[in-house]
Amino acid sequence: MLAAAADLDFLRSSVTVRETEDGISFFDGETGFAAELDGAVLSQFGLASLAMKEQLARFGLTNDTADLTDIRRKQRNALAGGRSTLQRLQDRLESLCRTVPYFAERRSQFSPELIEDVEAFEALPLMRRKDLRANFPHALLPTNIDLREGLFSGRMAFVATSGSTEDRIQVLANSMVDRLPFGADDLLGIPLSGKQPKTAFFTTAVCSSSACFRQATTYQDRISQSSPDLLLRTTSDPFSMDRTLIEDFHAELTDYRPTILAADPLYLQCLVRAARRYSIPVPSVPVVQTGFEFRTQLSHRTLRETFKCPVLDDYGASEENRLAVECHRGCLHVRADAVYLEIINQQGACQPGAIGNVVITTFDTLTPLVRYLIGDLASWTGKKCDCAFSAWPVIELHGRAKDLLRTRESWISSLQIDRAIQAPEWLEFYRITQRQPEMFEVELIAALDADPDILEFADLLSDYFEPAHLRIRAVCGFELLPSLKVGTTLTKLPTPEIIP
Ligand SMILES: [Zn+2]
Repeated sequence: MLAAAADLDFLRSSVTVRETEDGISFFDGETGFAAELDGAVLSQFGLASLAMKEQLARFGLTNDTADLTDIRRKQRNALAGGRSTLQRLQDRLESLCRTVPYFAERRSQFSPELIEDVEAFEALPLMRRKDLRANFPHALLPTNIDLREGLFSGRMAFVATSGSTEDRIQVLANSMVDRLPFGADDLLGIPLSGKQPKTAFFTTAVCSSSACFRQATTYQDRISQSSPDLLLRTTSDPFSMDRTLIEDFHAELTDYRPTILAADPLYLQCLVRAARRYSIPVPSVPVVQTGFEFRTQLSHRTLRETFKCPVLDDYGASEENRLAVECHRGCLHVRADAVYLEIINQQGACQPGAIGNVVITTFDTLTPLVRYLIGDLASWTGKKCDCAFSAWPVIELHGRAKDLLRTRESWISSLQIDRAIQAPEWLEFYRITQRQPEMFEVELIAALDADPDILEFADLLSDYFEPAHLRIRAVCGFELLPSLKVGTTLTKLPTPEIIP
């Protein structure tokens, strides 16, 4: 069936063509794009026909262009399948109502017939953590998957969310999903040759997302068998890292040579501080991606200055780790390939600039989420980015809803506080805890060899707090949260589930 090689000389040289059971497959070695054509189409048109050439040109496979950015753009469009958001949401609901008991039992609330436009979708009921806890696994997994085989082969894995025991929830995740979107070369602004880049993870010492850290294991044991990932050794006490941990960090990164260092920004900042104290250099990496918890401007500055490379955010959660990703232009783009993301307050959908709760609907997770309240706050920037991912809307992360502070009759997010503080030279870490109305405990960790300027700090926050309501003290470390995260703003007061 395969045409003679001469008939295929209109394809780019990186494209390989193979016969399959049902037709032929194309694989683009430069971008990682793969497509299949079935035999019926082939025999109707012929591989070297004009119609076929036009089709393959739309997939970026033909040699009329050599510009990889242009090629990846075409291939991204081909993968998106030209379906509208509404069609994708309808298809997802149709499949869920057929295969997942939770939705089948609630067909009257989740039927695709209910949504004739995206606004109608946004009127469907919200899912919450308690729904996951009450219905997982039996009612929330598709009836047509082979769970036993999936777990045995490692293609599926149970993932638990970090957090205190009463908050903890579990989901079943597909272990084989790529962490970065197709054509991430254009996103990060570095060449990746269509492969998922080698990534080293440095984060909390608990299971989070698909990375489960086992303290006692060796370097070899921490290199993943199924993906190009290394889990770096970590600690449950980031504010007093020992010399061996920093030496191992240096040795393992130097040996593994990842393209991406994916890290909890505050843990990595602690590591940089310890490395300075021990005079141990930090290896260079092409890109640092921060995630797992809120990134302060102080952390962003320290990491940029230390690693001398782009430091880009990657927003995910245990329930779905592909929520938004920052491009090399500095815009945090919603992962429209994986989720439909809404930002709502008690009035409904938020306008650009207004802070609201993040609500996600996943297109392909094994544990399906429809209008799931994930616990984070964000706002639309309304900005149009000019990168190759400009079609994916841009958000700003405001931190967790349960970390809102209450002051002067308003709820203030971690991002609003961080914007006020900016990044004074003498400061490295801060944390603000509210245990009662009008009283804020502030802990500061000054830069090495610097003195904390408590008056300046109070002044920076004067838009939000009366100086008399702040109890500021300098400390050497913070007590970690139950999730082992560091935390930036914390409140012990009840916070609204959905922002007013
Ligand atoms: Zn962008």
